[in-house]
Amino acid sequence: MLVIMKDHASSAEVQHVVDLLTEAGAEAHLSRGEVKTIIGVIGDREVIYTLELEGLAGVEQVIRVLKPYKLVGRDFQPQDTVVRVGGTAIGGGAFGVIAGPCSIESEDQMLTTARAARDSGATMLRGGAYKPRSSPYAFQGMGVEGLRLLRAAGDEVGLPVVTEVLDVRDTGTVAEYADILQVGARNMQNFRMLDELGETRKPVLLKRGLSATIEELLSAAEYVIKGGNRDVILCERGIRTFETHTRNTLDLAAVAALKILTHLPVVVDPSHATGRRDLIAPMARASVAAGADGLMIEVHPDPERARCDGPQSLTPTDFDALMRDIAPRVALEGKSLGESS
Ligand code: PEP
Ligand code: MN
Repeated sequence: MLVIMKDHASSAEVQHVVDLLTEAGAEAHLSRGEVKTIIGVIGDREVIYTLELEGLAGVEQVIRVLKPYKLVGRDFQPQDTVVRVGGTAIGGGAFGVIAGPCSIESEDQMLTTARAARDSGATMLRGGAYKPRSSPYAFQGMGVEGLRLLRAAGDEVGLPVVTEVLDVRDTGTVAEYADILQVGARNMQNFRMLDELGETRKPVLLKRGLSATIEELLSAAEYVIKGGNRDVILCERGIRTFETHTRNTLDLAAVAALKILTHLPVVVDPSHATGRRDLIAPMARASVAAGADGLMIEVHPDPERARCDGPQSLTPTDFDALMRDIAPRVALEGKSLGESS
């Protein structure tokens, strides 16, 4: 870390910063110019972060040289993390496809979708029982009854199930039914929830916040891993930009960047990223080419009657075509569906 002092900062101001750093166990290396003094700091980042040097008299700027995360970085663990669940895997050459409706609506809807997803080669089943809706008047999800239907459908077709934990108070209940716990975009920086999920022994699918930077996403994952849960899957689901043609803007560069920065598996959700059925296949193909370890795709047996996100949901027939389309591309990337090499 570098602490840049203001022009002509007094010796007392410089000394105060140095004293605080030394008391915290860090080394401070002074570089004095005629106008400016720069202090190079070496020490434990967790301690230095708590000092909040930016607010001190005479300090102009604090430049962080080290990244705010450690455990999720490739420096810490060069080899890919492989998240294994119920006989399938994501990461390290295993490509996962998580398919299912936006929200769980009925037994028939879940079973029909689950069978179709399995038959087309999906490796996991999704469905929301607790829905984060912008309007309080919109369908909020079936709750525990939905969790039960999702679990039953997953068991019936032999696929692990993924569902969202919307509120930290529901963590235990959702963990009873689900194989993977999803943190939605709106909860990516719900730090109490991330702590709580760090203590569970179920993998976590962490979706990128609507306006979260790559560094913020990685720092959120760091919370979960720091808590003791190493099984975190990151999900790029589009970010908010000025563009309105698509629901969000799919940030595929983030996928390629994440693959360099972190060992954690990265999946792409083109459904929420685009909001449009006709863009799912091209964006899914692009995601595979960008190095993604998997996809999350909304599929509904009757999208026109879906209670949530119908316009971006694929029919089982569309989904089957998508799977045929991406299969050779996944192989071209040296990956295989659901299996790690
Ligand atoms: C979802 O996957 O069901 C969902 C609500 O997505 P997001 O949190 O990315 O909006
Ligand atoms: Mn949805």
